[in-house]
Amino acid sequence: MIPGSFEYHRPGSVGETVELLARLGEESRVIAGGHSLIPMMKLRLAVPEHLIDLQSVEGLKDIAIDGGDITIGAMVTQHELIESEALAAACPILRETSKQIADPQIRYCGTLGGNVANGDPGNDMPALMQALDADYLLAGPEGTRSIKARDFYEAAYFTALNEGEILTAVRFAAPSAGHGWAYEKQKRKIGDYATAAAAVLLTLSGGACSAASVALTNVADTPLFAEEASTILSGSSLDADTVERAAKAAAAITDPAEDGRGPVEFRRHLTAVMVRRAVATAQTRAA
Ligand code: FAD
Repeated sequence: MIPGSFEYHRPGSVGETVELLARLGEESRVIAGGHSLIPMMKLRLAVPEHLIDLQSVEGLKDIAIDGGDITIGAMVTQHELIESEALAAACPILRETSKQIADPQIRYCGTLGGNVANGDPGNDMPALMQALDADYLLAGPEGTRSIKARDFYEAAYFTALNEGEILTAVRFAAPSAGHGWAYEKQKRKIGDYATAAAAVLLTLSGGACSAASVALTNVADTPLFAEEASTILSGSSLDADTVERAAKAAAAITDPAEDGRGPVEFRRHLTAVMVRRAVATAQTRAA
């Protein structure tokens, strides 16, 4: 399929982008890597009259690790997330998750901002951002604001992004030194979206788990922060019974679609399996 016709714009700054979005109105759309938007345009599920390309917008490709804070610009590609040794040292789950997105060709173009702003429940980065308790930094006609990744997703393709706003960066506290991490993703084949996936971060202290964070991909209309599962793990010794309770609590909040990836019960069951595996791997990696 060939997309509908559109006018192409290439602003150089966030201010110029916001001004263009305000002037061109609801028929305009920003484009980042294009690997979600262009397929939708080809299917005519999106028919923007104006495409505003973020490639030349200054400041959106920065990666900053400043004290305990990590800030990643919206236009940093999934490939760049994998390549950054500094990010891999400060927050290794970013590399692990990025490597499980699609294939290298898509990761060369696909951006962190596009992945989290799109609102596709199949995207892997939103759940990771919820596990990391990230803030999304937004810019729009009213100025700048931030919103928690845990509050951003409303339904499939519906987010808290207001008309005329763009996401400029994500920011989160670097996980503590010696933390354990894992992103476990079950998919039908290489390059596929998750049938179910779980991001787990945990901190061990004296053999017990002092903090834990669990989030899930593609098992509901939105990514899911598994609050009860996180609470069950925190303060426990991560014994088999506790991990089982956490896995079941995570599965209980899912509401997966029945599609080519399997029936509801299977995907729910798989969620528990992903959580168990991710906890086990994170535990072995924690210092
Ligand atoms: P675009 O396609 O350019 O934009 C996507 C949407 O986000 C658009 O609505 C656009 O307007 C909006 N947008 C983009 N940037 C911003 C911004 N800064 N502020 C506000 N709105 C913005 N992803 C996964 O996570 N896991 C997978 O397994 C996976 N498999 C894939 C397999 C295939 C075959 C393909 C084609 C894609 C796959 N993807 C997968 C999606 C891929 O990672 C996309 O690149 C990514 O989700 C979107 O990023 P993008 O930069 O390409 O965004």
